[in-house]
Amino acid sequence: LTAPSVMTMNGHFASVGDAPTKEQYEHGIQVIDEEKQFNPNLNTYLQLTKTAQSGFNYHLISVFGSQSTGKSTLLNHLFGTEFGVMSETERRQTTKGIWMSKNKREGAAGPEAHGMADNILVMDVEGTDGRERGEDQDFERKSALFALATSEVLIVNIWEHQVGLYQGANMGLLKTVFEVNMQLFLKDKQSNPRSLLFFVIRDHIGTTPLANLRNTLIADLTGIWTSLSKPPGLEKSRIEDYFDFAFAALPHKILQPDKFITEVAKLSTRFRVGHRVARHGDFDQELEGGVFLPEYHRRIPADGFSVYAEGVWDQIVNNKDLDLPTQQELLAQFRCDEISREVLEAFDDAISPLEEKQAEGVRLGQPSVLKDLGASGKAARAKSIKAFETEASRYHKGVYARKRVELEGKIDTRLKALYQGQLSAAHKSGVASFSDAVVAAVKAGQKKGASYEFADIVEREKEVALENFELEAKSLAIEGVPWTNFKQQYNLYEKDLDEVSGRLRKEEMRRLATRVERWVRSRLGESVGLEFNKLGSGRGGSGAPESGEKPATEKDLWDRIWNLFVATVKEAESRFIERAKSYNASGDEIEVGLWRLRRKSWGVLRAKIDEEVMEGNILLKLRENFEDKFRYDEAGVPRIWRPTDDIEGVYTKARESTLTLIPLLSRFRLSETYAPPELPEWIGAAPDSVDPKDEEDLTPIGGVDEEEGKSLEEEMSILSEAKRQDLVVRFKKTADGVYVEAKRSAIGGVAQ
Ligand code: GDP
Ligand code: MG
Repeated sequence: LTAPSVMTMNGHFASVGDAPTKEQYEHGIQVIDEEKQFNPNLNTYLQLTKTAQSGFNYHLISVFGSQSTGKSTLLNHLFGTEFGVMSETERRQTTKGIWMSKNKREGAAGPEAHGMADNILVMDVEGTDGRERGEDQDFERKSALFALATSEVLIVNIWEHQVGLYQGANMGLLKTVFEVNMQLFLKDKQSNPRSLLFFVIRDHIGTTPLANLRNTLIADLTGIWTSLSKPPGLEKSRIEDYFDFAFAALPHKILQPDKFITEVAKLSTRFRVGHRVARHGDFDQELEGGVFLPEYHRRIPADGFSVYAEGVWDQIVNNKDLDLPTQQELLAQFRCDEISREVLEAFDDAISPLEEKQAEGVRLGQPSVLKDLGASGKAARAKSIKAFETEASRYHKGVYARKRVELEGKIDTRLKALYQGQLSAAHKSGVASFSDAVVAAVKAGQKKGASYEFADIVEREKEVALENFELEAKSLAIEGVPWTNFKQQYNLYEKDLDEVSGRLRKEEMRRLATRVERWVRSRLGESVGLEFNKLGSGRGGSGAPESGEKPATEKDLWDRIWNLFVATVKEAESRFIERAKSYNASGDEIEVGLWRLRRKSWGVLRAKIDEEVMEGNILLKLRENFEDKFRYDEAGVPRIWRPTDDIEGVYTKARESTLTLIPLLSRFRLSETYAPPELPEWIGAAPDSVDPKDEEDLTPIGGVDEEEGKSLEEEMSILSEAKRQDLVVRFKKTADGVYVEAKRSAIGGVAQ
């Protein structure tokens, strides 16, 4: 197999200078000139005559015969063509090479309307004998091969007086035709198209009936066939395996001009589509309709004819073996590629603006979801494939199927990128609006009162978000195109939504934690404050015990604080758990939340205690405690000092009693164990699921966060040694003041 010659077509059209017009082709087109050059404008001609669009609905006829036997004249009469004819006076060859013209009588009205087939193309082949370059049998052979490879009907034009002249030039021509035919179809056994040899006998005088002439011709043809040396495998082949025969006779054009016209008109009616009704014997057949039997058609789509014809001619002219199936495959490749290119151009026109719009959005960082992309993408795809199918399916089936897959691949690559961009935009905007919607709904819920359910909000908004995405994905789906099932993208989207809702839930949990902490703070603020206030009473709340309560003593201050702390946090924990569960928080998340709550609550308590033992505050409490003991007797009655009273003794006792509070206050110790509460156990170890972010805002706790280097003892140390001493000194001074005042009042009381 040689290089695909059909490809040489490329560029030929470009070399044609001016756009050809219909007028230029009045006399048809010279397909092959005397230099054996193929005319690159053949396709233009087919376009101009509207033949190119006809698919298979066109027909090709060639005429053969000796020079100046009235071939061109016959064609012009039959088909209204304007092939050049020899003037009666000049007598020299006019038709050179091979000309082609489209039947001009097609669709003619009135008596002219012969019901001729659509789109008949007629080829007028250069006369073959008596030529000036008669020695050149080469062209004769080549043009015969060309005509056979392309034509359905071969008209053999012959004078009546030549019939039976076996040695005549016509018979030589037929021998050539038969030979090249065998050569051709040796390669093309499967399609093996037949052709019709249509003998038109000219200047029929009428004395010999047509039937006799026909018999003579058949005898001659059989003789020629027998004499042919046949290639191996075809020795037994018969002429009628390849050809059908038809015969017609016409009167003398000059001598019987009117009769000639009538007979030609009759003859023209035979150029219609027909079918075989029956076959009797080797050469006898009954046709219905006209001479164009479907089996004669070469099945080259009209829009590919010029490429095919040029390829065939190229092979012929270069003396290469003409292999029609290969030519047809090459043609199919060439044309399918060409059609594919055209189709892709139209597809590009439809898709490019969408691609640009999408790219623009991405560039601006705001990927946009294009409206109705699914519909326009689907339409463009279907339109392209349909257009390709219409044009290209007429060509070689295998090539067509392959090129169709190729085309679909190209289209789908473009669409895929576009669709993926679309879904990624839908994904982004969907996740963003989901997050916004949840936040907005939470805010609205908070405004209305605390009764919103976070999990419900998330579920509702997720449903909306998924639905929107699914709608978009579904609009992009194309039936029977697996890659347009976007399940994977859908799943990814859902995963992202869940991630976002997880994050939002975490934030929501933080807010909850803050609320619960605030509650703990206010609770502890009150209750712990109360406990410290009791210090001021000097009897440690030992007044009248109410409702059977064990009387509080100063010694169990820390026990009471610890117990109410633990109870408060416990209540806070159950509030937190209840709420968090309604968010659909996981066990791990709740565990971390509680752990944080306990730590933070401890911090709250510790701060409250620090506030209570702040210098001024504690000094005031000590003074009150002291005064209570000093100024009131055991029954709680205020003392009126008299000079005889043991003011000093009472003072010393009260002072020493109050002073015992200072070491008690200095350390958080439980009375029973005389040890700090088991804070590390109470807080518990950090849960495994805690992440560094959860720990960021936590203050280290001595004894709990051991790596911080602070011991539990230090954590529980409320007053430093220095502060203690300072407090003792200050308190003593205050107590001294009170004592002096009491002393003075005792003396003063006497003086009164
Ligand atoms: P071509 O070379 O075969 O195409 O022949 P042309 O059509 O050019 O005609 C050659 C000559 O034959 C012209 O002078 C025609 O007038 C003449 N001619 C055409 N038709 C007939 C015919 O039916 N009978 C005769 N005797 N002459 C014809
Ligand atoms: Mg001619």
